[in-house]
Amino acid sequence: MSLRELPSVEKLANSLNHSVQLPKPLIIGFIRREIDLFRQQILAGSTITAEEIQVSISTKLNDFAASKLQPVVNGTGVLIHTNLGRSPLGTTAADALRDIATGYSNLEFNLPEGVRGKRAGYLETALACLLNAEAATVVNNCAAALVIILKHMSNGEKNEVIVSRGELVEIGGGFRIPEILETSGAKLVEVGATNKTHLEDYRKAITDKTALILKVHRSNFYIGGFTDEPEVTELSALAHEYHIPLVEDIGSGAIMNTDELAPINHEPTPQDALKNGIDLVCFSGDKLLGGPQSGIIAGNAELIAGIKNEPFFRAVRCDKLILTVLQESIDEYLRTQSEPRQTDVPTLRSLAEPVENLRTRAEKMLEQIGSISKATITITESIATTGGGTMPTSQIPSIALEVNPTGISLNKLSRSLRTGAPAIVGYTDKGIFKLDLRTIFSWQDEAVASQLNHLLSS
Ligand SMILES: *Cc1c(COP(=O)(O)O)cnc(C)c1O
Repeated sequence: MSLRELPSVEKLANSLNHSVQLPKPLIIGFIRREIDLFRQQILAGSTITAEEIQVSISTKLNDFAASKLQPVVNGTGVLIHTNLGRSPLGTTAADALRDIATGYSNLEFNLPEGVRGKRAGYLETALACLLNAEAATVVNNCAAALVIILKHMSNGEKNEVIVSRGELVEIGGGFRIPEILETSGAKLVEVGATNKTHLEDYRKAITDKTALILKVHRSNFYIGGFTDEPEVTELSALAHEYHIPLVEDIGSGAIMNTDELAPINHEPTPQDALKNGIDLVCFSGDKLLGGPQSGIIAGNAELIAGIKNEPFFRAVRCDKLILTVLQESIDEYLRTQSEPRQTDVPTLRSLAEPVENLRTRAEKMLEQIGSISKATITITESIATTGGGTMPTSQIPSIALEVNPTGISLNKLSRSLRTGAPAIVGYTDKGIFKLDLRTIFSWQDEAVASQLNHLLSS
Protein backbone atom coordinates (compact mmCIF):
# COMPACT_ATOMS: atom_id res chain seq x y z
CA MET A 1 0.00 0.00 0.00
CA SER A 2 1.17 3.53 -0.65
CA LEU A 3 0.89 6.33 1.84
CA ARG A 4 -1.79 7.97 -0.28
CA GLU A 5 -4.12 5.00 0.21
CA LEU A 6 -3.80 5.13 3.99
CA PRO A 7 -7.36 5.64 5.33
CA SER A 8 -8.04 9.06 6.82
CA VAL A 9 -8.48 9.38 10.56
CA GLU A 10 -12.05 10.71 10.19
CA LYS A 11 -13.05 7.94 7.81
CA LEU A 12 -11.69 5.30 10.19
CA ALA A 13 -13.37 6.91 13.18
CA ASN A 14 -16.73 6.86 11.38
CA SER A 15 -16.38 3.29 10.18
CA LEU A 16 -15.45 1.83 13.55
CA ASN A 17 -17.97 0.17 15.76
CA HIS A 18 -19.17 2.82 18.17
CA SER A 19 -20.12 0.65 21.02
CA VAL A 20 -16.95 2.18 22.41
CA GLN A 21 -18.04 4.88 24.86
CA LEU A 22 -15.12 7.25 24.72
CA PRO A 23 -14.98 11.01 24.12
CA LYS A 24 -14.83 11.57 20.35
CA PRO A 25 -11.55 13.57 20.50
CA LEU A 26 -9.98 10.64 22.36
CA ILE A 27 -11.07 8.19 19.66
CA ILE A 28 -9.67 10.51 16.98
CA GLY A 29 -6.44 11.03 18.92
CA PHE A 30 -6.04 7.30 19.48
CA ILE A 31 -6.57 6.49 15.78
CA ARG A 32 -4.17 9.25 14.73
CA ARG A 33 -1.42 7.76 16.90
CA GLU A 34 -2.04 4.30 15.40
CA ILE A 35 -2.10 5.61 11.82
CA ASP A 36 1.24 7.30 12.45
CA LEU A 37 2.70 3.94 13.38
CA PHE A 38 1.33 2.34 10.20
CA ARG A 39 2.72 5.25 8.17
CA GLN A 40 6.19 4.45 9.48
CA GLN A 41 5.71 0.75 8.70
CA ILE A 42 4.62 1.54 5.14
CA LEU A 43 7.61 3.84 4.66
CA ALA A 44 9.76 0.93 5.81
CA GLY A 45 8.25 -1.24 3.08
CA SER A 46 5.31 -2.99 4.77
CA THR A 47 2.62 -4.33 2.41
CA ILE A 48 -0.26 -4.11 4.88
CA THR A 49 -3.73 -3.56 3.36
CA ALA A 50 -6.29 -0.90 4.24
CA GLU A 51 -8.58 -3.57 5.62
CA GLU A 52 -5.90 -5.03 7.88
CA ILE A 53 -5.24 -1.55 9.21
CA GLN A 54 -8.90 -1.03 9.96
CA VAL A 55 -9.23 -4.38 11.77
CA SER A 56 -6.07 -3.79 13.76
CA ILE A 57 -7.07 -0.31 14.86
CA SER A 58 -10.59 -1.40 15.73
CA THR A 59 -9.27 -4.19 17.96
CA LYS A 60 -6.77 -1.90 19.64
CA LEU A 61 -9.40 0.75 20.23
CA ASN A 62 -11.69 -1.76 21.93
CA ASP A 63 -8.82 -3.01 24.08
CA PHE A 64 -7.94 0.58 24.93
CA ALA A 65 -11.55 1.31 25.94
CA ALA A 66 -11.48 -1.77 28.20
CA SER A 67 -8.39 -0.39 29.96
CA LYS A 68 -10.37 2.52 31.39
CA LEU A 69 -10.73 2.09 35.16
CA GLN A 70 -14.14 0.47 35.68
CA PRO A 71 -15.96 -1.82 38.12
CA VAL A 72 -15.14 -5.53 37.86
CA VAL A 73 -16.93 -8.57 39.27
CA ASN A 74 -14.27 -10.56 41.09
CA GLY A 75 -14.89 -14.27 40.54
CA THR A 76 -11.31 -15.27 41.31
CA GLY A 77 -11.86 -16.25 44.92
CA VAL A 78 -8.92 -14.03 45.90
CA LEU A 79 -10.32 -11.61 48.47
CA ILE A 80 -7.61 -8.97 48.46
CA HIS A 81 -6.68 -9.01 44.79
CA THR A 82 -4.05 -6.36 44.12
CA ASN A 83 -4.80 -6.39 40.36
CA LEU A 84 -8.50 -5.89 41.07
CA GLY A 85 -8.06 -2.96 43.44
CA ARG A 86 -7.63 -4.77 46.77
CA SER A 87 -10.36 -3.84 49.26
CA PRO A 88 -13.88 -2.84 48.22
CA LEU A 89 -15.46 -0.21 50.49
CA GLY A 90 -18.57 -0.46 52.59
CA THR A 91 -21.63 1.65 51.83
CA THR A 92 -21.10 4.01 54.79
CA ALA A 93 -17.59 4.81 53.61
CA ALA A 94 -18.73 5.22 50.01
CA ASP A 95 -21.60 7.54 51.02
CA ALA A 96 -19.26 9.66 53.12
CA LEU A 97 -16.87 9.82 50.18
CA ARG A 98 -19.54 11.27 47.91
CA ASP A 99 -20.56 13.87 50.50
CA ILE A 100 -17.02 15.09 51.03
CA ALA A 101 -16.05 14.85 47.37
CA THR A 102 -18.87 16.98 46.05
CA GLY A 103 -18.53 19.89 48.48
CA TYR A 104 -16.17 21.71 50.81
CA SER A 105 -15.05 20.24 54.11
CA ASN A 106 -13.23 21.11 57.34
CA LEU A 107 -10.09 19.35 56.09
CA GLU A 108 -7.81 21.87 57.81
CA PHE A 109 -10.32 24.08 59.54
CA ASN A 110 -11.29 24.19 63.20
CA LEU A 111 -15.05 24.74 63.12
CA PRO A 112 -15.64 25.72 66.81
CA GLU A 113 -12.84 28.32 66.74
CA GLY A 114 -13.16 29.37 63.12
CA VAL A 115 -9.42 29.14 62.58
CA ARG A 116 -7.02 26.93 60.70
CA GLY A 117 -7.24 23.38 62.05
CA LYS A 118 -5.28 20.17 62.18
CA ARG A 119 -5.48 17.82 59.21
CA ALA A 120 -6.61 14.28 60.08
CA GLY A 121 -6.85 15.07 63.80
CA TYR A 122 -10.06 13.09 64.30
CA LEU A 123 -8.75 10.10 62.36
CA GLU A 124 -5.45 10.02 64.25
CA THR A 125 -7.20 9.99 67.62
CA ALA A 126 -9.70 7.35 66.48
CA LEU A 127 -6.83 5.18 65.24
CA ALA A 128 -4.93 5.59 68.50
CA CYS A 129 -8.06 4.54 70.44
CA LEU A 130 -8.74 1.55 68.22
CA LEU A 131 -5.14 0.34 68.29
CA ASN A 132 -4.46 1.14 71.95
CA ALA A 133 -1.56 3.27 70.79
CA GLU A 134 -0.15 6.49 72.22
CA ALA A 135 -0.45 8.07 68.78
CA ALA A 136 -1.05 7.26 65.13
CA THR A 137 -0.84 8.87 61.72
CA VAL A 138 -1.45 8.04 58.08
CA VAL A 139 0.42 8.28 54.78
CA ASN A 140 -0.28 7.09 51.22
CA ASN A 141 0.62 3.42 51.62
CA CYS A 142 2.63 1.08 53.77
CA ALA A 143 5.72 1.42 51.56
CA ALA A 144 5.66 5.20 52.16
CA ALA A 145 5.09 4.59 55.88
CA LEU A 146 8.25 2.51 56.09
CA VAL A 147 10.30 5.00 54.07
CA ILE A 148 9.32 7.93 56.28
CA ILE A 149 9.88 5.94 59.47
CA LEU A 150 13.38 5.03 58.29
CA LYS A 151 14.11 8.57 57.06
CA HIS A 152 13.14 9.99 60.43
CA MET A 153 14.86 7.43 62.62
CA SER A 154 18.15 6.86 60.81
CA ASN A 155 20.38 9.91 60.60
CA GLY A 156 23.95 10.68 59.62
CA GLU A 157 26.29 8.39 61.52
CA LYS A 158 23.47 6.65 63.38
CA ASN A 159 21.90 4.97 60.38
CA GLU A 160 22.28 1.22 60.82
CA VAL A 161 19.07 -0.79 60.66
CA ILE A 162 19.22 -4.38 61.87
CA VAL A 163 17.02 -6.86 60.00
CA SER A 164 16.89 -10.66 60.16
CA ARG A 165 17.91 -12.44 56.95
CA GLY A 166 14.62 -14.32 57.16
CA GLU A 167 12.72 -11.05 56.78
CA LEU A 168 14.40 -9.38 53.79
CA VAL A 169 11.24 -9.80 51.79
CA GLU A 170 9.93 -8.63 48.47
CA ILE A 171 6.21 -7.87 48.60
CA GLY A 172 4.99 -7.65 44.98
CA GLY A 173 5.30 -4.52 42.85
CA GLY A 174 8.97 -3.91 43.58
CA PHE A 175 8.69 -3.47 47.34
CA ARG A 176 11.98 -4.94 48.55
CA ILE A 177 13.12 -4.29 52.08
CA PRO A 178 16.83 -3.81 51.20
CA GLU A 179 15.90 -1.29 48.48
CA ILE A 180 13.47 0.57 50.72
CA LEU A 181 16.26 0.92 53.26
CA GLU A 182 18.64 2.22 50.64
CA THR A 183 16.10 4.78 49.38
CA SER A 184 15.67 6.02 52.92
CA GLY A 185 19.40 6.52 53.47
CA ALA A 186 19.56 3.72 56.04
CA LYS A 187 22.31 1.11 56.12
CA LEU A 188 21.13 -2.47 56.23
CA VAL A 189 22.75 -4.75 58.80
CA GLU A 190 21.66 -8.33 58.13
CA VAL A 191 21.64 -10.81 60.96
CA GLY A 192 20.98 -14.54 61.32
CA ALA A 193 20.20 -16.96 58.52
CA THR A 194 17.21 -17.37 56.23
CA ASN A 195 15.54 -19.93 58.47
CA LYS A 196 16.95 -19.09 61.90
CA THR A 197 17.79 -15.87 63.67
CA HIS A 198 18.60 -15.89 67.40
CA LEU A 199 18.37 -13.14 69.97
CA GLU A 200 22.17 -13.23 70.27
CA ASP A 201 22.49 -12.49 66.53
CA TYR A 202 20.62 -9.25 67.12
CA ARG A 203 22.66 -8.44 70.25
CA LYS A 204 25.98 -8.92 68.45
CA ALA A 205 24.92 -6.59 65.63
CA ILE A 206 24.13 -3.66 67.94
CA THR A 207 26.68 -0.80 67.76
CA ASP A 208 26.74 2.97 68.52
CA LYS A 209 25.52 3.43 64.97
CA THR A 210 22.38 1.33 65.35
CA ALA A 211 19.34 3.48 64.55
CA LEU A 212 16.68 0.82 65.02
CA ILE A 213 15.80 -2.84 64.80
CA LEU A 214 13.27 -3.62 62.08
CA LYS A 215 10.96 -6.61 61.96
CA VAL A 216 9.07 -7.35 58.75
CA HIS A 217 6.10 -9.67 58.66
CA ARG A 218 6.55 -12.48 56.14
CA SER A 219 3.16 -11.77 54.70
CA ASN A 220 3.38 -13.36 51.29
CA PHE A 221 5.52 -16.41 51.92
CA TYR A 222 5.98 -19.08 54.45
CA ILE A 223 9.03 -20.83 55.82
CA GLY A 224 8.64 -24.23 57.41
CA GLY A 225 10.92 -26.93 58.78
CA PHE A 226 13.83 -25.92 61.02
CA THR A 227 13.02 -22.34 61.82
CA ASP A 228 13.59 -20.14 64.82
CA GLU A 229 13.31 -16.51 65.80
CA PRO A 230 13.09 -14.69 69.12
CA GLU A 231 9.69 -13.76 70.55
CA VAL A 232 8.78 -10.11 69.97
CA THR A 233 8.78 -9.59 73.74
CA GLU A 234 12.38 -10.88 73.97
CA LEU A 235 13.48 -8.72 71.09
CA SER A 236 11.83 -5.64 72.54
CA ALA A 237 13.50 -6.27 75.92
CA LEU A 238 16.84 -6.45 74.12
CA ALA A 239 16.18 -3.30 72.05
CA HIS A 240 15.12 -1.34 75.10
CA GLU A 241 18.09 -2.53 77.14
CA TYR A 242 20.22 -0.71 74.53
CA HIS A 243 17.75 2.19 74.14
CA ILE A 244 17.12 1.29 70.51
CA PRO A 245 13.64 1.57 69.03
CA LEU A 246 11.99 -1.56 67.61
CA VAL A 247 9.85 -1.08 64.50
CA GLU A 248 7.62 -3.66 62.83
CA ASP A 249 6.09 -3.65 59.35
CA ILE A 250 3.18 -6.04 59.79
CA GLY A 251 1.84 -5.54 56.27
CA SER A 252 -1.78 -6.55 56.06
CA GLY A 253 -3.02 -4.93 59.27
CA ALA A 254 -5.81 -7.20 60.42
CA ILE A 255 -7.45 -5.17 63.17
CA MET A 256 -9.51 -8.02 64.55
CA ASN A 257 -8.64 -11.67 64.84
CA THR A 258 -9.63 -12.58 61.31
CA ASP A 259 -9.12 -16.25 62.14
CA GLU A 260 -12.33 -16.00 64.19
CA LEU A 261 -14.24 -15.19 61.00
CA ALA A 262 -12.89 -17.96 58.77
CA PRO A 263 -10.64 -21.02 59.08
CA ILE A 264 -7.45 -19.15 58.21
CA ASN A 265 -4.06 -18.59 59.82
CA HIS A 266 -3.74 -15.99 62.52
CA GLU A 267 -2.61 -12.67 61.10
CA PRO A 268 -0.74 -10.41 63.54
CA THR A 269 -2.66 -7.35 64.72
CA PRO A 270 -1.07 -3.95 65.35
CA GLN A 271 -2.61 -3.97 68.84
CA ASP A 272 -0.69 -7.14 69.72
CA ALA A 273 2.51 -5.82 68.19
CA LEU A 274 2.34 -2.69 70.37
CA LYS A 275 1.38 -4.69 73.45
CA ASN A 276 4.41 -6.91 72.90
CA GLY A 277 6.74 -3.93 73.01
CA ILE A 278 7.04 -2.75 69.40
CA ASP A 279 7.65 1.04 69.44
CA LEU A 280 6.23 1.75 66.00
CA VAL A 281 4.13 -0.46 63.81
CA CYS A 282 3.10 0.19 60.21
CA PHE A 283 0.60 -1.57 57.95
CA SER A 284 -1.57 -1.16 54.85
CA GLY A 285 -5.06 0.33 54.97
CA ASP A 286 -6.37 -1.61 51.98
CA LYS A 287 -5.52 -5.20 52.84
CA LEU A 288 -7.28 -6.97 55.72
CA LEU A 289 -8.31 -3.67 57.28
CA GLY A 290 -10.59 -3.27 54.26
CA GLY A 291 -10.16 0.47 53.80
CA PRO A 292 -8.59 2.74 51.18
CA GLN A 293 -4.99 2.57 49.95
CA SER A 294 -3.03 4.06 52.82
CA GLY A 295 -0.24 3.31 55.26
CA ILE A 296 -0.92 3.57 58.96
CA ILE A 297 1.80 4.24 61.52
CA ALA A 298 1.04 3.76 65.22
CA GLY A 299 2.92 3.70 68.51
CA ASN A 300 5.27 5.99 70.41
CA ALA A 301 3.89 9.55 70.48
CA GLU A 302 7.28 11.29 70.28
CA LEU A 303 8.33 9.26 67.26
CA ILE A 304 5.01 9.89 65.50
CA ALA A 305 5.29 13.63 66.17
CA GLY A 306 8.81 13.60 64.72
CA ILE A 307 7.66 11.73 61.63
CA LYS A 308 4.88 14.25 61.06
CA ASN A 309 7.45 17.05 61.26
CA GLU A 310 9.64 15.57 58.51
CA PRO A 311 9.53 17.73 55.36
CA PHE A 312 9.03 14.46 53.44
CA PHE A 313 5.74 13.88 55.28
CA ARG A 314 4.19 16.55 53.04
CA ALA A 315 5.04 14.40 50.00
CA VAL A 316 3.30 11.30 51.30
CA ARG A 317 0.31 12.71 53.17
CA CYS A 318 -3.19 11.51 52.23
CA ASP A 319 -5.77 13.60 50.43
CA LYS A 320 -9.22 14.38 51.83
CA LEU A 321 -10.93 11.54 49.94
CA ILE A 322 -8.66 8.91 51.42
CA LEU A 323 -8.89 10.48 54.88
CA THR A 324 -12.69 10.42 54.67
CA VAL A 325 -12.86 6.77 53.70
CA LEU A 326 -10.31 5.71 56.28
CA GLN A 327 -12.07 7.73 58.98
CA GLU A 328 -15.32 5.89 58.19
CA SER A 329 -13.56 2.52 58.10
CA ILE A 330 -11.99 3.10 61.51
CA ASP A 331 -15.29 4.33 62.99
CA GLU A 332 -16.90 1.15 61.65
CA TYR A 333 -14.34 -0.96 63.54
CA LEU A 334 -14.89 1.04 66.72
CA ARG A 335 -18.66 0.54 66.39
CA THR A 336 -18.55 -3.19 65.72
CA GLN A 337 -15.54 -4.15 67.82
CA SER A 338 -17.60 -6.39 70.07
CA GLU A 339 -19.60 -7.89 67.20
CA PRO A 340 -17.20 -8.41 64.31
CA ARG A 341 -19.81 -10.32 62.31
CA GLN A 342 -21.96 -7.18 62.14
CA THR A 343 -19.26 -5.29 60.28
CA ASP A 344 -19.95 -3.27 57.14
CA VAL A 345 -16.36 -3.92 55.92
CA PRO A 346 -16.93 -5.95 52.71
CA THR A 347 -13.63 -7.85 52.87
CA LEU A 348 -14.50 -9.16 56.33
CA ARG A 349 -18.09 -9.92 55.36
CA SER A 350 -16.90 -11.94 52.37
CA LEU A 351 -14.36 -13.72 54.54
CA ALA A 352 -17.03 -14.69 57.06
CA GLU A 353 -19.87 -15.68 54.69
CA PRO A 354 -20.91 -19.26 55.49
CA VAL A 355 -20.44 -21.82 52.72
CA GLU A 356 -24.17 -22.73 52.93
CA ASN A 357 -25.05 -19.14 51.94
CA LEU A 358 -22.73 -19.32 48.98
CA ARG A 359 -24.33 -22.58 47.89
CA THR A 360 -27.84 -21.15 48.15
CA ARG A 361 -26.79 -18.16 46.08
CA ALA A 362 -25.18 -20.43 43.46
CA GLU A 363 -28.38 -22.48 43.20
CA LYS A 364 -30.42 -19.35 42.66
CA MET A 365 -27.98 -18.18 40.00
CA LEU A 366 -28.30 -21.50 38.15
CA GLU A 367 -32.05 -20.94 38.03
CA GLN A 368 -31.56 -17.40 36.76
CA ILE A 369 -29.12 -18.54 34.08
CA GLY A 370 -31.82 -20.90 32.83
CA SER A 371 -31.35 -23.02 29.73
CA ILE A 372 -28.16 -22.48 27.78
CA SER A 373 -26.77 -24.36 24.81
CA LYS A 374 -23.07 -23.51 24.70
CA ALA A 375 -21.95 -24.83 28.10
CA THR A 376 -22.89 -26.84 31.13
CA ILE A 377 -22.68 -25.11 34.47
CA THR A 378 -22.43 -26.95 37.77
CA ILE A 379 -21.97 -25.96 41.39
CA THR A 380 -18.70 -27.11 42.89
CA GLU A 381 -16.71 -26.79 46.10
CA SER A 382 -13.73 -24.49 45.74
CA ILE A 383 -10.95 -22.83 47.69
CA ALA A 384 -10.80 -19.08 48.17
CA THR A 385 -7.72 -17.27 49.47
CA THR A 386 -7.09 -13.97 51.18
CA GLY A 387 -4.44 -12.83 48.66
CA GLY A 388 -2.91 -9.36 48.78
CA GLY A 389 0.28 -10.79 50.15
CA THR A 390 -1.42 -12.12 53.24
CA MET A 391 -1.56 -15.58 54.70
CA PRO A 392 -0.03 -17.52 51.81
CA THR A 393 -1.07 -20.86 53.25
CA SER A 394 -4.67 -20.09 54.18
CA GLN A 395 -7.41 -21.91 52.29
CA ILE A 396 -10.99 -20.78 52.75
CA PRO A 397 -13.69 -23.30 51.79
CA SER A 398 -15.92 -21.81 49.13
CA ILE A 399 -18.39 -22.48 46.33
CA ALA A 400 -17.88 -21.85 42.64
CA LEU A 401 -19.85 -22.05 39.43
CA GLU A 402 -17.95 -24.40 37.16
CA VAL A 403 -18.48 -23.57 33.50
CA ASN A 404 -17.69 -26.22 30.90
CA PRO A 405 -18.11 -24.56 27.53
CA THR A 406 -19.10 -26.81 24.62
CA GLY A 407 -20.21 -24.44 21.88
CA ILE A 408 -17.52 -21.81 22.52
CA SER A 409 -13.82 -21.97 23.36
CA LEU A 410 -12.77 -21.44 26.94
CA ASN A 411 -10.53 -18.54 25.95
CA LYS A 412 -13.31 -16.85 24.05
CA LEU A 413 -15.73 -17.29 26.93
CA SER A 414 -13.41 -15.90 29.59
CA ARG A 415 -12.42 -13.00 27.34
CA SER A 416 -16.07 -12.19 26.58
CA LEU A 417 -16.81 -12.21 30.30
CA ARG A 418 -13.86 -9.94 31.03
CA THR A 419 -14.82 -7.44 28.34
CA GLY A 420 -18.58 -7.52 28.92
CA ALA A 421 -20.73 -5.20 30.98
CA PRO A 422 -20.17 -5.75 33.82
CA ALA A 423 -16.62 -7.05 33.37
CA ILE A 424 -16.41 -10.45 35.07
CA VAL A 425 -13.08 -12.05 35.97
CA GLY A 426 -12.94 -15.75 36.81
CA TYR A 427 -10.10 -18.25 36.85
CA THR A 428 -9.12 -21.47 35.12
CA ASP A 429 -8.20 -24.42 37.30
CA LYS A 430 -6.84 -27.49 35.48
CA GLY A 431 -8.59 -26.49 32.27
CA ILE A 432 -11.90 -25.76 33.99
CA PHE A 433 -13.34 -22.26 34.20
CA LYS A 434 -14.66 -21.19 37.60
CA LEU A 435 -16.41 -18.23 39.15
CA ASP A 436 -15.97 -18.22 42.92
CA LEU A 437 -18.97 -16.94 44.87
CA ARG A 438 -16.99 -15.81 47.93
CA THR A 439 -15.59 -12.78 46.13
CA ILE A 440 -18.76 -12.02 44.15
CA PHE A 441 -21.17 -9.82 46.10
CA SER A 442 -24.73 -11.10 46.36
CA TRP A 443 -25.99 -7.91 44.68
CA GLN A 444 -23.93 -8.89 41.63
CA ASP A 445 -25.36 -12.42 41.32
CA GLU A 446 -28.18 -11.43 38.99
CA ALA A 447 -25.94 -9.48 36.61
CA VAL A 448 -23.47 -12.39 36.46
CA ALA A 449 -26.28 -14.87 35.79
CA SER A 450 -27.74 -12.69 33.08
CA GLN A 451 -24.35 -12.22 31.41
CA LEU A 452 -23.73 -15.99 31.43
CA ASN A 453 -27.14 -16.57 29.91
CA HIS A 454 -26.47 -13.90 27.29
CA LEU A 455 -23.12 -15.39 26.25
CA LEU A 456 -24.06 -19.05 26.42
CA SER A 457 -27.53 -19.32 24.96
CA SER A 458 -27.69 -19.54 21.18
C1 LIG B 1 1.71 -5.31 51.45
C2 LIG B 1 2.88 -5.06 52.30
C3 LIG B 1 3.61 -3.87 52.16
C4 LIG B 1 3.24 -2.84 51.14
O1 LIG B 1 2.07 -2.20 51.46
P1 LIG B 1 1.44 -1.08 50.50
O2 LIG B 1 0.35 -0.47 51.31
O3 LIG B 1 0.97 -1.80 49.29
O4 LIG B 1 2.52 -0.11 50.19
C5 LIG B 1 4.67 -3.68 52.99
N1 LIG B 1 5.05 -4.59 53.89
C6 LIG B 1 4.38 -5.74 54.06
C7 LIG B 1 4.87 -6.72 55.09
C8 LIG B 1 3.26 -6.02 53.27
O5 LIG B 1 2.59 -7.16 53.43
